[in-house]
Amino acid sequence: MTARYVRVALPVPLHRTFTYRVPDGMSASAGVRVRVPFGPRRLVGVVTDDPDEALPEGVGAEKIRPLLEQLDPEPVLDAQLRALCAWMATYYHLPPGEAWLQPLPPGMTGGRSGEPRTLTMRTVTVAHLVRAATADERLGERMSRVLQHLEAEGQATAPDLRAETGASLDTLRRLEARGLLRLEQREVPRDPFADLRPISHPPPVPTAAQTLAIETISAALGGFSPFLLMGVTGSGKTEVYLRVIDAVLARGDGALVLVPEIALTPQLVARFRARLGDRIAALHSGLDPDARHEQWLRIASGELPVVIGARSALFAPLPSVGLIVVDEEHDPSFKQDTAPRYHARDLALVRGQLAGCPVLLGSATPSLESWLNTQRGRFTLLELAERALDRPMPTVSLVDLRAHEPVDEDRIFSQPLLDAVRENVGRGEQTILFLNRRGFAAFLLCRACGQSLSCPECSVTLTWHRGRGRLICHWCDHVAARPLVCPNASCGDDALQEVGFGTERVEGALRQLIPEARVARMDRDTTRGKALNRLLDRFRDRAIDVLVGTQMVAKGHDFPGVTLVGVLLAETGLALPDPRAAERTFHLLTQIAGRAGRADRPGRVLVQTYDPDHYALRHALTHDARAFLAAELELRQALDRPPVTHLAVFRLNGPDADAVMHAARGLAHELNADIAALPDPESAWLMGPQPAPIERIRGLFRWQLHVIARQRATLGGLLGRAMSRLDEARLPANLQVSLDVDPQSFL
Ligand code: ADP
Ligand code: ZN
Repeated sequence: MTARYVRVALPVPLHRTFTYRVPDGMSASAGVRVRVPFGPRRLVGVVTDDPDEALPEGVGAEKIRPLLEQLDPEPVLDAQLRALCAWMATYYHLPPGEAWLQPLPPGMTGGRSGEPRTLTMRTVTVAHLVRAATADERLGERMSRVLQHLEAEGQATAPDLRAETGASLDTLRRLEARGLLRLEQREVPRDPFADLRPISHPPPVPTAAQTLAIETISAALGGFSPFLLMGVTGSGKTEVYLRVIDAVLARGDGALVLVPEIALTPQLVARFRARLGDRIAALHSGLDPDARHEQWLRIASGELPVVIGARSALFAPLPSVGLIVVDEEHDPSFKQDTAPRYHARDLALVRGQLAGCPVLLGSATPSLESWLNTQRGRFTLLELAERALDRPMPTVSLVDLRAHEPVDEDRIFSQPLLDAVRENVGRGEQTILFLNRRGFAAFLLCRACGQSLSCPECSVTLTWHRGRGRLICHWCDHVAARPLVCPNASCGDDALQEVGFGTERVEGALRQLIPEARVARMDRDTTRGKALNRLLDRFRDRAIDVLVGTQMVAKGHDFPGVTLVGVLLAETGLALPDPRAAERTFHLLTQIAGRAGRADRPGRVLVQTYDPDHYALRHALTHDARAFLAAELELRQALDRPPVTHLAVFRLNGPDADAVMHAARGLAHELNADIAALPDPESAWLMGPQPAPIERIRGLFRWQLHVIARQRATLGGLLGRAMSRLDEARLPANLQVSLDVDPQSFL
């Protein structure tokens, strides 16, 4: 019998698969997991295609080692997911292992040890608070968060604590060793959505615009076609999704529904549950690995035909995908900002093509990418121009802070905004105040020497959190006590001043300015997981008058009692060195404005700003997404920016500033040579290399190199050549190079 060989995608950082011999008696068919020898190690990987007799070029059969073990009798990745993984690896220039292991739940990839987990009894670790920390006990940021959470809750499971505070089991064990908490094992994790209040009212009768959208998409079921459903906030997009999903289920197919952050949208899940019952798998990062594994198996078996989750739900092993919905398709969180750096909206289109089904992108403020696709006739545009319940859109007005200087001691509120909040509270109506910066003061500045207090590990200022009495780095979580005098050796003055404000300061100021108002704050410092659900419930029950928050409050919440929304400083995001700064600001303002006046009373929005003439603000004022998109597209065209051109960024970092710079220049040099050799050398170009806007994070120096091309294929070719050179290159071990195709983050 002739020998048979397979290619295996392995979790190693090289841009190739590895060939192994298939021992007799093993099927090793495409999509099964196998254990293989790799140098002195053993790794778990996925077979990428069926065995054949082909050996890699120039390699003798005697060099090929045999597979050690086949871990699954049947493929865990079906043909559709395999094709998706292959596409993803090519497009994003990923090491195949990174792409091919992505769909599998954590328990099935075995991590570094190569030991895949098996599904066993489900127990979960539960932490109980023993005592609060004393004032002089030095605890890290994470540890303090754990204790804060437990003080509120009494007890919590380890997966919940991880989701809410980021603390690992290890951190919990250290806290246990210090006598602050006690850990115990308990059986069966709880469903994070188990406490959701059911939302049940009969399905509304679709409006004419909804009916048209529902019928158009339903008529397209059974074949690939992309739709952009553009509908103002409250126009009933979710209702359209639900109706089309009904039609999909009636055909015996299933649906994938991607939402930006499932933990922030418990209401949406509750609505889906109310309509579709138990057929829903809600993929939540707070689930422990065994629970996720079990869900994965139930989805694969066809038992749960509707899958809702954040970006990774795109890889759910649904056997028959009849529809993919991407809600809030413009949201940046669909791009994963750690490896593998994929964009779930873009991959949704690929999976839709593979599955032969419609892909429905929904947004009030579509991304430029999707908008351009409607303009070029690639996506069908469906519009819901009015709110479903005949509610007027809120009136939005700008408050020019140059003319209306802040009147309070903390310099936060203009008189018009303060009056409006006071009035609203007096009337018993609810208010949301939005500011995209958490903490108390933006930073501490020494008035004597002019220096501000920075993180020792990062090139950013530390944020002052007064409630915690700590300075915190929002990039590396470094925590420091507040110095009494300026730490600058040549200064030492005691003139440290709190500059700027964050949500914590707004909350405090509000309590003083309007003592009768019940105020709560919602940001990453105060709210995660179940505490978030409770806060949302309290707000909906009107136990809170004013909710102050970061962009968490802007998400798709539906609070009928909110009639006033205040934006404290609209331009916070505009100054970022990000080509999408205007787009992001427009999205956020529109989104946050959409929280006002959703029920019977009309809403209004006051936007404080020092930059009232900015076009992103002007168009948000009139809810005119089309006008904004047209203006922004023109600008991108003039500046040759995506989506008109195609962009990728190489990021380099390491502890040695010179080595990083040197490597970045070397990379640019080679790429420039490749570009010069193109048939049309004008069709691609570089920007940089240059230090990243934040030059240092966690002690590592950072450089960036942007590669831009007019055609996607040109970019792909350039990146492919660069990546294979990097595979061969002998870079210093502590120097990291990563590639981000279609980057969303530029810091
Ligand atoms: P979107 O997803 O566009 O923000 P939703 O689907 O959440 O909008 O709808 C906004 C509100 O209008 C919800 O309370 C929803 O129940 C209601 N609604 C949606 N469609 C209709 C309809 N056809 N008739 C009456 N109410 C509707
Ligand atoms: Zn830092």
